[in-house]
Amino acid sequence: MEDKIAVIGGGPAGMIAAGTAGSRKKNVVLFEKNEKLGKKLYITGKGRCNITNLCDIEELLNNVVVNKKFLYSAFYTFTNNDIIDLLNKYGLETKVERGNRVFPKSNKSSDVIKALNKYLIDNNVTIRLNKKISDIKKTTSGMFNLQFEDGSQENFNKIIITTGGKSYEQTGSTGDGYNFAESLGHKIIKPKPALVPCEVEEAWVKELQGLSLKNVSISAYVKNKKIFEDFGEMLFTHFGISGPVVLSMSNYINKHINENIKIYIDLKPALSHEKLEKRILRDFEQFSRKQLKNSLNNLLPKALIPVIIRLSKIDEDKFINQITKEERNNLIEALKKLELTFSKFRPINEAIVTSGGIIIKEIDPSTMESKHVKGLFFAGEVIDVDALTGGFNLQIAYSTGYLAGINC
Ligand SMILES: Cc1cc2nc3c(=O)[nH]c(=O)nc-3n(C[C@H](O)[C@H](O)[C@H](O)COP(=O)(O)OP(=O)(O)OC[C@H]3O[C@@H](n4cnc5c(N)ncnc54)[C@H](O)[C@@H]3O)c2cc1C
Repeated sequence: MEDKIAVIGGGPAGMIAAGTAGSRKKNVVLFEKNEKLGKKLYITGKGRCNITNLCDIEELLNNVVVNKKFLYSAFYTFTNNDIIDLLNKYGLETKVERGNRVFPKSNKSSDVIKALNKYLIDNNVTIRLNKKISDIKKTTSGMFNLQFEDGSQENFNKIIITTGGKSYEQTGSTGDGYNFAESLGHKIIKPKPALVPCEVEEAWVKELQGLSLKNVSISAYVKNKKIFEDFGEMLFTHFGISGPVVLSMSNYINKHINENIKIYIDLKPALSHEKLEKRILRDFEQFSRKQLKNSLNNLLPKALIPVIIRLSKIDEDKFINQITKEERNNLIEALKKLELTFSKFRPINEAIVTSGGIIIKEIDPSTMESKHVKGLFFAGEVIDVDALTGGFNLQIAYSTGYLAGINC
């Protein structure tokens, strides 16, 4: 009898797994509980979808934060070029931007979903939308019995679980796959937020809500030991900080969240202390008869000026020609080492990805098949793997999806 394969979850991992299995002339059914495929994919890259990263494979692996060795085989078998070729074949034109990030030429994530839909149809995958799996049981004859929320059930010889993580639940990723895997005998590493905004203790951040800073350097310290430093874009919010560098930082500080984490923002990373002092002195010469609060416009965005002056402990009404060297040093300190105290991560639902998931020791890294249950496969974010921003998490979904699809 011909194998019947069920793929559970129509995100990028599920679509690639189903299309790949279909290309081998298998009888494949892709189940998705939403009314359409790829709801999370649709919101990726702020609606533009950072499809993958065109760096070399070793660098792809270096951008994986958790369990990179597990992904070696997957990344080398289905590469960044492979997904680009596949999408190009199904009508999507792509472009490469800063940092090797690949996007659709149209800047529309919906075009990526369209191309993947064509791939599924071309490979005769049956797509069943609005079909939520509520439970999976093993029958005495070794089949997988899928039970649906609507009360119906269906048996399959093999299944691929691609239900994603637990963040942005409104997209459908509600962590169902963890329950399925557990009930089939797999262990789970407790899901935690990754690539997630941070709350801080300092109340003044609220005054800066909405302010985005492009070229800043951020570092994080625990007990005076540096655990993270990077350069890029950040955003102040009503609760703390977010934006690309902050999301990356979250993956490095997550082991220390019960310790005292200090975060420092260097607002002028291109200038050393001495160069910044010279620059300030030049500005001060120009504005010598003005008050401090009216003299920093060349140096800082408007919203930051009162905050920086307060943190420098200088009277904002003071005239420039009365500012002491000590006060000037305080100002430089505030600009180069703006201090924040981490309090907690935002909830998992606001995380870009979920860290944790199905334990990798129980999955064969060259096939994505369970080491305990024959015919059971996993792919994508449901597995305990996660990476930095830059297209790496989607590459994990395609590469593991491909391995499951080619081996099921
Ligand atoms: C705001 C945001 C922006 C992002 N931007 C990027 C980016 O630009 N580049 C990048 O590389 N990564 C990005 N990511 C991460 C990336 O989207 C995920 O890592 C990726 O979507 C994971 O793919 P997946 O197929 O494993 O899971 P998902 O995309 O989460 O798909 C899982 C699917 O399974 C379905 N499902 C779940 N349970 C059931 C069930 N019981 N029955 C039936 N169906 C079910 C869900 O409805 C969902 O459609 C972003 C994430 C977010 C939240």
